[in-house]
Amino acid sequence: MIELCLLGATGSIGSQVLDLIREKRDVYRLAAFSFGHNINKALEIVEEFEPDLVCAVEELDANRIKSEFPKVDVAFGNKGLQQVATHNCLCPKVINALVGSVGLTPTLSAIEVGRDVYLANKETLVIGGEIVMAKAKEFGVKIIPIDSEHSAIFQLLNGNDIEDVDRIIITASGGSFRDISREDLIKVTKEDALNHPNWTMGAKITIDSATMMNKGFELIEAHYLFDLPMSKISYILHRESIIHSLVEFKDGSMFAQMATSDMRLPIKYALEYPSHSYTEMVEKLDLVKVGCLHFEELSLERYPMLGFAIEAINKGSVYPTILNAANEVAVGLFLEEKISFLDIEKIVKEALNNPIFDKFALGDLTIPKIMSVDELVRIQILTKYR
Ligand code: MG
Repeated sequence: MIELCLLGATGSIGSQVLDLIREKRDVYRLAAFSFGHNINKALEIVEEFEPDLVCAVEELDANRIKSEFPKVDVAFGNKGLQQVATHNCLCPKVINALVGSVGLTPTLSAIEVGRDVYLANKETLVIGGEIVMAKAKEFGVKIIPIDSEHSAIFQLLNGNDIEDVDRIIITASGGSFRDISREDLIKVTKEDALNHPNWTMGAKITIDSATMMNKGFELIEAHYLFDLPMSKISYILHRESIIHSLVEFKDGSMFAQMATSDMRLPIKYALEYPSHSYTEMVEKLDLVKVGCLHFEELSLERYPMLGFAIEAINKGSVYPTILNAANEVAVGLFLEEKISFLDIEKIVKEALNNPIFDKFALGDLTIPKIMSVDELVRIQILTKYR
C-alpha cells in the first residue's frame, strides 16, 4: 500500500490524483491532504477517503473539520503544510499540487525527511530551483515531475545519457488567445482568457497559458529539473497538444511523447514510473482522428512574457522570484477584474526592471531572501494597482 500525502487536494491536479486513488484503492491510500478555501469539497474528501491528517489555510476551517470528524488530526497554515509533507505513514509519497510560492517550503520539508517529491507546483522550481535541487542531491531524493511537458521529457530521457542530449523542445498550445493579434488583446475579458482550447486546468494556470508565462515557468523548471543550460532548452508552438515535448539527441534523432491531453496520465506516470501499465481513465490516442500535427515558431514579440522568463533565468538569483511574484499578483488582479489582460505583462516587466530589487541579487540566494523579495514585490504592486 502506498500512502499519499497530497498538498492541494481540492485543486485541478489534486482532484485528478483523487481519481487515480479511486481507480486503485488496493494500491493507494490518501493519508494526509491540504486544501485552500473549498471547505465543502474538503469535507467530502475526508468523508470519502478517511485520511489521518487534514490541513486548511484557515484555523476556522480546520476546527470545522475537527468538529465533524473528531478522529482526524487537523492543522492549518504554512506549518500545517509542512506537517502534511512530513506526515508519518507507510511508504509515503508526497504530491505537491499547491498553486503559488506557498509550495516551496513544504517541498523542502519533504526533502529534509528523505522523501521523493512528485511535483506539480511550478513555483518550487521557478523561485527555489537552485536550492531545491541542491538539497534533493544532498538528501538523495528525487524530484519527479507531474507537469505534462516535463513528464514527457522525463519519459524520453529514461535510460538515455543526458550528455547525448542536444536539446529538449517544450511544446506550447498557444493558450486561449493564440489566434488573436496583440492589438485585439486589449479588449479580451476574464471569461475569454479562462476558455483554454485543449486543457482543463485551474484558473491561475489557464491565464498563465494565455500570457505564455506558464511556458516561461516551464523553461525555468526544465533548466533545474534536468540540469540543462538554457541554450539546450527550446520551445515550439504545437496547437494540437498531442506531442507533450521532444528530445533531440546529438546524432539528430528526435523523440516525441504523444498522448491525449489528460493530466491524469503524467500524474499516473510520476507515481508509477517506469511502468506504463493500463488505466481506463485515459482515452487512447486515435492518430487517424488527429490527422495532422502542426508546428509554428513561438514569437517573443507576440508573447513577451516568455522573453521575461528567459531574461529572469539568465540573470538568476532573485529574478525568477520577482517574475513569479509579480505574475501571481497581476493574475490575481486580472481575475478580480481590477486590471486588463495586457496589464499583466506590464506589471511583470515593471517589477523585473525595478531597481529597488537589485540589491537582493547580491550574495548567495537563500530561502529567507526569496521569501522577503516575494513579499516585497507583492506589496509594491498591490499598493500601486489595488
Ligand atoms: Mg504544462
